[in-house]
Amino acid sequence: MIHIKDLRKTYKTPKGVFEAIKKIDLKIEQGEIFGIIGPSGAGKSTLVQCINLLEKPDSGSITLNGQVLTGLSEIELRAQRRRIGMVFQSFNLLSRRTVFNNVALPLEIAGVNKEEIKSRVDELLNLVGLSHLSDRYPAQISGGQKQRVGIARALACHPDVLLSDEATSALDPETTANILDLLRDINRKTGITIVMITHQMEVVKQICDRVAVLSHGAVVEVGATADVFANPRHDVTRAMVSAATESNLSEDSLEILVARLKTWVQAHPGQDAAIWELHLHDAQVSGGLFSGAAKHEGVSFSLLQAKVEDIKGVAVGKLYVQVQGSAQAILNARQALSNEAGVQIQEVVYESAND
Ligand code: ADP
Repeated sequence: MIHIKDLRKTYKTPKGVFEAIKKIDLKIEQGEIFGIIGPSGAGKSTLVQCINLLEKPDSGSITLNGQVLTGLSEIELRAQRRRIGMVFQSFNLLSRRTVFNNVALPLEIAGVNKEEIKSRVDELLNLVGLSHLSDRYPAQISGGQKQRVGIARALACHPDVLLSDEATSALDPETTANILDLLRDINRKTGITIVMITHQMEVVKQICDRVAVLSHGAVVEVGATADVFANPRHDVTRAMVSAATESNLSEDSLEILVARLKTWVQAHPGQDAAIWELHLHDAQVSGGLFSGAAKHEGVSFSLLQAKVEDIKGVAVGKLYVQVQGSAQAILNARQALSNEAGVQIQEVVYESAND
């Protein structure tokens, strides 16, 4: 559907030539919701501007449904731009136009007649749930409602792709979730391909089928959202995933837990104790996670803290567990856990045997 091939873009700066996009190759399929995520400065805006034809890449090509977009004349570009609907972080609504007239604008520019405009705008406002606010002005509606207007306007001319540039970055978490639900709904109802450019992991997690991770002007990782979250391969992805699933035990609680375990070990000769940090990737987590490990006689587990999320049906997250038993039993349990698919002992936070 969208094929970005060997794309490069440099900017001339007073300090010399800056490579904003070093080399990007991406294939986005018809009907999917594709996320492009990366930290600030990764090249996301530059990529958006190349896709929506506002910036000319230095080299490489962008093909939309078989039509090469790069290297077109200004008139051809204008026609092609209609095939891409844009949704912006700042909504970009015209304050002197009503909700209805904002959505009507691209249709007016395209020369559509009044009757058709009326029926198309009514249909779009119904799709985004704003029919009752069609006579309001942008200043009289909420941020989430403004973005609904932005989405309706972007869809007005039946584009092939909806390109969302940080569309939820200015919204609170609840409104963000509502807007993402709406986009998912529109994708299901109309089959439109959606490209979400974002720096928010939440956005990718909630609706993207696949995701590409951008860093320093290059794609460092691409794959199904659940795979990328469960097995992040690149440092940038790992940092973004761990920031989104952060759940470290605080120093204070760790100190208290260790002190308590030390006292327990002193009072129980022949027994040891440990605290492990476990990471789950791909694990089918159930009550039975520790069953294999716990079969080893005389070892007991207590869950200290957990943050496990269901990302597209796959459990991903981090657990802290406390283990008590003989040194041999703890060792056996550790081996049994390492054999459990998708579970990894990331760190031995404390082990009494090492004291
Ligand atoms: P992102 O959207 O991921 O934050 P950008 O595409 O805005 O990243 O920027 C990528 C890099 O290119 C940044 O280092 C930025 O400073 C640089 N850059 C962007 N636009 C220009 C420009 N017009 N001139 C020079 N450098 C630019």
